[in-house]
Amino acid sequence: MSQVQNHRSWDRVANVFGESTPHPRGSVWPARVDQYLDEGLTDREVDRWVQSACLLCSNGCGADIAVKDGRMVGIRGRAGDTVSHGRLGPKGLYGSTPWASFPDRLTRPLIREAGRLVETDWETAMGRIVEVSKRLLKEKGPLSHGFYTSGQLFLEEYYTLAVIGKAGLGTPHMDGNTRLCTATSAAAFKESFGADGQPGSYTDIEHCDAIFLYGHNMPETQTVLWTRILDRSRGDDPPRIVCVDPRRTAVAEEADRTGGVHLAPRVGTNLALMNGLTRELLVHDWIDRAWVDAHTIGLDDLRETVDPYTPEHVAEVCGIDPEDLRTAARIFGESENVLSTVLQGFYQSHQATAASVAVHNLHLLRGMIGRPGPATCAASSVAAGVS
Ligand code: SF4
Repeated sequence: MSQVQNHRSWDRVANVFGESTPHPRGSVWPARVDQYLDEGLTDREVDRWVQSACLLCSNGCGADIAVKDGRMVGIRGRAGDTVSHGRLGPKGLYGSTPWASFPDRLTRPLIREAGRLVETDWETAMGRIVEVSKRLLKEKGPLSHGFYTSGQLFLEEYYTLAVIGKAGLGTPHMDGNTRLCTATSAAAFKESFGADGQPGSYTDIEHCDAIFLYGHNMPETQTVLWTRILDRSRGDDPPRIVCVDPRRTAVAEEADRTGGVHLAPRVGTNLALMNGLTRELLVHDWIDRAWVDAHTIGLDDLRETVDPYTPEHVAEVCGIDPEDLRTAARIFGESENVLSTVLQGFYQSHQATAASVAVHNLHLLRGMIGRPGPATCAASSVAAGVS
């Protein structure tokens, strides 16, 4: 049974990742149950715990919500949750507490009066929506309405929204912020594998000996997932980390610390970088030829496409050191199990789908897919994981 870590206000803002639980390769990520209760409250005073999940980033950590007198008074992780093994990040721990609210957060609806937004009550605000919608439907029809949605709703909420928009109002104009990242992820997976499910699993973190993060500032976007990587990189037999990011992030620092490398390509040059890595794998024959022949098509086309992308040419296009490219390719080519994660630096960038497909290609060339350890995961800022 894992020990419950009780956190006071702001503890985990000062120490974002919490107490580390380093462990060696191949072992299970130790559980650590993080808990926050309103100040002065103890476990015994909680009436009941309701199973839920934190949806504030794409990690989707399992969480139990503490209820007292019909109101939420705290939250804790679940040791058995496969995503977090009990952990919660600062947003999950404190996101719902009143003291974490800032004064400029909305507490009441606003309506526009003579060009100015003014506070109002719910009845007035909802009445305004109904009145304007009815008028627009009458004057212009259903196409007058459009919806732009967060990726952070629950399934039931998405269903209700679709019923309102499509079945009710009859508009096809419904889109979400998932278009910015998950759409690329899905398009790339379909291009590579014919299906949009990602082949990777978070448990690959426990088995890999190299982790490539492409445009993925995990410490700032998915704190619990980064904790999982830190617990490997600070334990025995750590993976080498390769960071692809124009910025000097905490991932870049961990790459230096683990003997990996930080590649900082110019914005808009991801595909050239990927072509260079692919070419290095081919030139050095870091490929599983039997696996490639049995499971893939298009090797000759790929070879021809990437042929001009020598390390020197890529260095010129991307503004990086050609030796760093060689080092990164060598890490990919000589590791037993590589885990790759991809996020907005690729998904929301120039030639996004092609660059993401190129990440998959590296894994396909080495036959590193479909077994524990080597995989590509798509992490996105919505309720999705690593690809
Ligand atoms: S890592 Fe993401 S899902 Fe997990 S607690 Fe933090 S914000 Fe919530």
